[in-house]
Amino acid sequence: MSTFSRTLKNNINEVVKKVLDGDVRTIARLITLIEDGSFEIADILAKLHTYTGKAHIIGITGPPGVGKSCLIDKLIREYRKKGLSVGVLAIDPTSPFTGGALLGDRIRMKEHSTDSGVFIRSMGSRGSLGGLSKATGYAVKVLDASGKDIVIIETVGAGQTQVDIIKYAHTVVLVLMPKIGDEIQAMKTGIYEIGDIFVVNKADQENADQAVREIEEFVEYEYERLKERGVHPIWKKPVIKTVAVKGEGINKLVEEIEKHKNFLIESKIMEKLKIEKSKSEVLEVLSQKIYEHILRKTGTDEEFKSILHKVASGEVDPYSAANLLLKKFILNWEA
Ligand code: GDP
Repeated sequence: MSTFSRTLKNNINEVVKKVLDGDVRTIARLITLIEDGSFEIADILAKLHTYTGKAHIIGITGPPGVGKSCLIDKLIREYRKKGLSVGVLAIDPTSPFTGGALLGDRIRMKEHSTDSGVFIRSMGSRGSLGGLSKATGYAVKVLDASGKDIVIIETVGAGQTQVDIIKYAHTVVLVLMPKIGDEIQAMKTGIYEIGDIFVVNKADQENADQAVREIEEFVEYEYERLKERGVHPIWKKPVIKTVAVKGEGINKLVEEIEKHKNFLIESKIMEKLKIEKSKSEVLEVLSQKIYEHILRKTGTDEEFKSILHKVASGEVDPYSAANLLLKKFILNWEA
């Protein structure tokens, strides 16, 4: 057990206080424990929960090399100018290495490392028990509780893990660049669904306007389709041109993120999102508890052993066996 794990166990209130004060070392250590899938974090996450729910969570996603790191760097500056604090989690499901400068080009973001209003951290799939997606959700909770006004989750590439992770965000920014054909192709494969705001970065390159037009046409088409289906209210997804290296278009991006946030609040979608999130959190803990309960009860149970033999011989099927055991071990269980 590490020194920090011991502190956590014996002085949990002290650790909570440090997180609430935004202590960078404590937050970093907690996120390491989360990545490791350590069970010790359950108690502190439970205590931190009351302090969460204030941060606006922004997902920034898109293929490698489109300029996400660059864009985030500029976003941080913009938010800092407004006096808001920012936490960034850069998630790379393909990398087992974490906490370092491996994801994208972190060098540009380094200038924020002395700013106490900014916390930047990379997370990889360091064998975390519940998977990277769950770990990201917990890390977001810690940053939210630490008082960050904005929490940015950066993910690369496509795939289920990425889609799962981006679901923690209230507003998802999909970053693309002007290479005609690719954008529309990406939309067709379902990426459109997850983006709330589209950014065509590297607008200093050729064909930027054409890319914007193509995406706008697609947005219009999807908007009409939703309208026909009677969906209301519908968020009209904006398409923004940026030149991240020069900081161009960042104001507009921040403005659109704010508008989306207001849309979520006014339409009460934010409330629904929070209820949905709470539901999956509670159900997850519930299933874990039931599993542990059954595991404990069956450990020394003779009837359980005999049922296993019957399942093995084909006399009883696993579903009937499970129903039988549930009736025995869980009070008032109804199959
Ligand atoms: P990421 O992999 O999506 O995080 O992309 P990076 O932020 O690391 O950027 C990839 C490369 O694109 C870097 O060399 C950047 O300097 C460059 N880049 C980023 N934004 C722009 C831009 O607006 N215009 C141009 N021309 N290059 C850019």
